[in-house]
Amino acid sequence: MARNTGPQCRLCRAESQKLFLKGERCYSGKCAIAMKRPAPGKGLKDRSKKKSNYAEQLREKQKLKRIYGMLERQFKIFFYRAERMAGKTGENLIVLLERRLDNVVFRMRFAASRNQARQLVSHGHVAINGKKVTIASYIVKAGDTVAIRPNSQKLQIIKESLKEFTRSGVVPWLEVDPDSIQGKLASYPKRSDVTDINDIHEQLIVELYSR
Ligand code: SF4
Repeated sequence: MARNTGPQCRLCRAESQKLFLKGERCYSGKCAIAMKRPAPGKGLKDRSKKKSNYAEQLREKQKLKRIYGMLERQFKIFFYRAERMAGKTGENLIVLLERRLDNVVFRMRFAASRNQARQLVSHGHVAINGKKVTIASYIVKAGDTVAIRPNSQKLQIIKESLKEFTRSGVVPWLEVDPDSIQGKLASYPKRSDVTDINDIHEQLIVELYSR
């Protein structure tokens, strides 16, 4: 499964913005952005340069792609799928990204980050409606049950992640039972439900791919 395996904080530094690629660890005092470390290879002066429209569109696409840990080819496939759906393409894109299996596992608090969730899926620890699924980009449907498979429920990383469930609960479009380590996609998310990426302007991505 192709994915970006480079240092994650470097990706945030390139965007001069927190992308929360390490999940809960991003709230610690060690965050490179919180410590105001400049973009790789750039001083503070370079970051104040005025960007062209194209550069702004490109940066917005890179940010969204990096948040969901995707490479260009797969991201484009998602975009074209969103374009074929009824409604606003940008919003459809975000809803589709939220429905990716790795994201759902992360949102259900079975993993501390999307990266970790992707590993759980590809290593065969996750089942949908009782059947093992190892494809992180699988699109979960409303009513689907997503569960950690019985033999994997003792994994320490899952137990650690579930502590966050007790602290903060889950997003409104998911139902989770932390005891049986399974949950259901109760309804499809709306763009307005995805509040932690509110500063992403998805319309700029639509404009980029419409060039
Ligand atoms: Fe980004 Fe998280 Fe690293 Fe901060 S700690 S720079 S938000 S990946």
